[in-house]
Amino acid sequence: MSGSFDVIVIGGGPAGYVAAIRAAQLGLKTACVEEWINKQDKPALGGTCLNVGCIPSKALLEATELYAEARDNFADLGIVVGKVDVDVPKMIARKDGIVSELTGGISALFKANGIEWLQGRGKLGADKQVTVTARDGSESSYTGANIIIATGSVPIELKATPLDSNIVVDSSGALDWESVPGSICVIGAGIIGLELGSVWRRMGSEVVLLEAQDDFLPMVDKAVAREAAKTFKKQGLDIRLGSRVMGSVVEGGRVKVTYQDSEGEHETVFDKLIVAVGRRAFTDGALSSEAGVELDERGLIHVNDKCETNVPGIYAIGDVVRGPMLAHKGSEEGIMAAELIAGQHGHVNYDVMPNVIYTHPEVAWVGKTEEELKSEGVDYQVGQFPFAASGRAKAKGDTGGLVKIIRDKTNDRLVGAHIIGPSASELLAQSVLAMEFDGTIEDIVRTIHAHPTLSEAIHEAALSAEGRAIHIANRKAR
Ligand code: FAD
Ligand code: NAD
Repeated sequence: MSGSFDVIVIGGGPAGYVAAIRAAQLGLKTACVEEWINKQDKPALGGTCLNVGCIPSKALLEATELYAEARDNFADLGIVVGKVDVDVPKMIARKDGIVSELTGGISALFKANGIEWLQGRGKLGADKQVTVTARDGSESSYTGANIIIATGSVPIELKATPLDSNIVVDSSGALDWESVPGSICVIGAGIIGLELGSVWRRMGSEVVLLEAQDDFLPMVDKAVAREAAKTFKKQGLDIRLGSRVMGSVVEGGRVKVTYQDSEGEHETVFDKLIVAVGRRAFTDGALSSEAGVELDERGLIHVNDKCETNVPGIYAIGDVVRGPMLAHKGSEEGIMAAELIAGQHGHVNYDVMPNVIYTHPEVAWVGKTEEELKSEGVDYQVGQFPFAASGRAKAKGDTGGLVKIIRDKTNDRLVGAHIIGPSASELLAQSVLAMEFDGTIEDIVRTIHAHPTLSEAIHEAALSAEGRAIHIANRKAR
């Protein structure tokens, strides 16, 4: 088979499939090459995010949060339930069902938009030729006037802790256990470690997170990170900082982990080990040398701020290029690339990128941290409000955490919002919008917030930046 297209997208994750849909909306003849084979041994769109990332992890986080809530907190609300139990296979099957529906939805959207899904592995050659190798080994060749590379990322593996089917796993493996392990070691107290550690801790596993760095969540505002560390400890997540894993050995159906901290070397045996030490850009087998596309020293495809590679007409987006490895970042880049190809003014505002850790409470932030502003010499002011003073949080019985917002004193603009608390992921959106509109603290102060809502905490934090919060005693504005 062969053919030519205005745009060929290689990779059908949240960066690639969104790029393909936007390109088709703009009237471009579009194909998307995707090789993913899912748990049911079927080809699937949606990439890491839909198949083994954002969606399945959130399905398990939502279910286990409700379970833990019913088990641990319902009695406090005056709700009497019998013994609360968990049916793990059913929970996993529900998660798989959500994944199937959503990935099936993407193929329906491809059909509706007239996008051709080329199933198999794409390899970019000279002159924007893409060879697609199907599962049965057959090859076909296509030409694109424009190419968008969206081949994503894969988990980083540690040589010293090789994966071992069901006992030493990466994030994908930890989404599929059908019974609750007695004990789990997680290498890396990063986002995946905390989210998946929370899932299994809520189900009853003993969870130890070994983190090589001395700082906990170094990318998060320090006050929020401190609050998070305190809360996770209370939940029973045993986070050991400054602990570098040296190796692991699977013995008798369990795994012995060796790690080193300031006190020396330790050896502990666990039922399972999750390796969650980051992800690397994935270009294996996707680029021939004739394509001429340059990579940087970390293996990421080198692009400018418009996601253009060094070869005219070839773009790269998502996890395979610089910037945070986030689904929404990749999708926005996909839209930008498609719009630039169609002659429009695509743009991504990298300064206003929301980040969320979907633990309970959630941790969410946008813009600069106080530490970053300090080091940049910006004259800033902080406004803060604890959920303990929020009527709605009290009504929910969920009062942990705080909102911290930061303004640039020279122009009153909101330059950072940092939240730890109930529904932080949803609350963050208003700060993201305010920053996108170049909003000021005064704008938030003048915005009427419904009562009683959690969003009033943002309003109060803004008021507090002006030294006039209503529901807390105001500290001297700083
Ligand atoms: P991917 O989603 O990795 O997709 C790349 C696709 O390209 C894959 O489907 C792959 O099969 C295909 N491909 C690669 N090479 C070829 C080739 N040569 N030919 C054909 N096809 C190819 N991000 C968030 O924003 N929010 C979250 O809550 C979140 N949770 C996560 C939870 C977990 C457990 C993990 C692992 C990740 C999570 N992420 C989350 C990160 C998010 O999944 C990624 O940032 C996102 O999927 C990147 O999108 P992408 O399209 O660039 O790459
Ligand atoms: P991460 O970079 O967040 O965390 C990895 C951690 O492992 C780091 O803290 C690192 O210091 C530690 N580490 C590395 N080597 C170690 C060793 N030998 N011993 C002990 N600790 C070690 O990476 P991740 O948690 O694997 O997540 C990967 C990517 O996926 C992230 O970039 C993230 O953006 C994305 N993701 C996002 C979400 C979300 O948006 N909610 C959820 C999951 C994943």
